Amino acid sequence: MSATILLAEDEAAIAETVLYALRADGFAAEHVLLGGQVLPRLARGGIDLVILDVGLPDCSGFDVCRALRETSAVPVIFLTARSDEIDRVLGLELGADDYIAKPFSPRELVARVRARLRRHDAGQPRQRGCFEVDAAAHRVRFAGQWLDLTRYEHALLAELLHRPGAILSRAQLLDRVWADALETGERTVDTHVKTLRAKLRQLDPARDPIRTHRGLGYSIDVD
Ligand code: CA
Repeated sequence: MSATILLAEDEAAIAETVLYALRADGFAAEHVLLGGQVLPRLARGGIDLVILDVGLPDCSGFDVCRALRETSAVPVIFLTARSDEIDRVLGLELGADDYIAKPFSPRELVARVRARLRRHDAGQPRQRGCFEVDAAAHRVRFAGQWLDLTRYEHALLAELLHRPGAILSRAQLLDRVWADALETGERTVDTHVKTLRAKLRQLDPARDPIRTHRGLGYSIDVD
């Protein structure tokens, strides 16, 4: 699924250039003219990154950024026209992730957007029901605590959490989790499921989220 970018910019020519460059690169892009339109649009959801002109007609992009940071961690890139604005972007702790000075090349802007989204995704722990998956740090939190897992236990859990509720056969799990291991068999899967279950039980004895489906395989229940 392509990311959706919200652009707040009052100069038509710049807006057109940015929107064209984003769409040409496969992004969905939406445009507002006023700072006051940014928060209401964000509240409706579905925005993955905001490009914010500093000099907007109704308020400054700085004010918008400060206000949106109270409720949102969405990446923000400022568009600035003057060097004193750049100083403010850098000097104030506004919670902006990047800035681009006008005039800029649309290609550079798109590259920055892409880089910013990648970093955001990698750094962002994902909630999966009662689990929290921190892919960047290779760790998973369960019942409020980070699990202490071996490499294969972690890979097994991550694979199951990739699609909660979906049944994965032992052969599929062997293929995906133990692809680089030399000596494995279906017992390998069962053994690791057993130790993983024991570690989960230690943190929350009541839940037991891994389901065994006789003759089919395993799934995980995150609710
Ligand atoms: Ca402007």
